Amino acid sequence: MSKILCPYCRQEVEDTETKCPYCTTSLVKKDYAKFLVTLSMIFYLLWVLGNTLCFKILGSFPEILRMRDEDGWLVFSISEYIELCIQPVLAAIIPCIITIIKKVRKREAITFICIYVFTALLFTLGFLHLQKNLGV
Ligand SMILES: [Zn+2]
Repeated sequence: MSKILCPYCRQEVEDTETKCPYCTTSLVKKDYAKFLVTLSMIFYLLWVLGNTLCFKILGSFPEILRMRDEDGWLVFSISEYIELCIQPVLAAIIPCIITIIKKVRKREAITFICIYVFTALLFTLGFLHLQKNLGV
C-alpha cells in the first residue's frame, strides 16, 4: 500500500482512501487512474489480438515474408514488423506512464509496462522464428 499527498491539505493519505481523512476532500484522482489503467489494458488486448491475427495471416501466406523489392530488400522485414506491429504497444504503455507520473497505482502500472514489454519481446522473437523457419 502506498501513500499519496492530498492535493488540498498536502497531508499524506493512503492511496486506497476515497476521501481525505484530514480535510474530507474527495480524492477523485483515483477514478481517473483506474480509467487510465483499464484503457491501457484494452489497448494491450487489442494489440495482442492484432499481432495474433498478423501471425495467423503470415502463417497462411508465408510468401509475404519472402517478398523482396527491386533492390532485393525484404518488403516485410523485422524493422517493418516492429514499426507496424510492435510500436502500437505504446498506446497501452502511455496511459500507464501517465498513471505513474500522477503517482497513483504506480506499482500496478509498472507491472503492466513490464508485461507489455515482455509480450512485445515475445512477438518479436516469434517473428524472427517465423522468418528462420521459412529460410528468409
Ligand atoms: Zn486533505
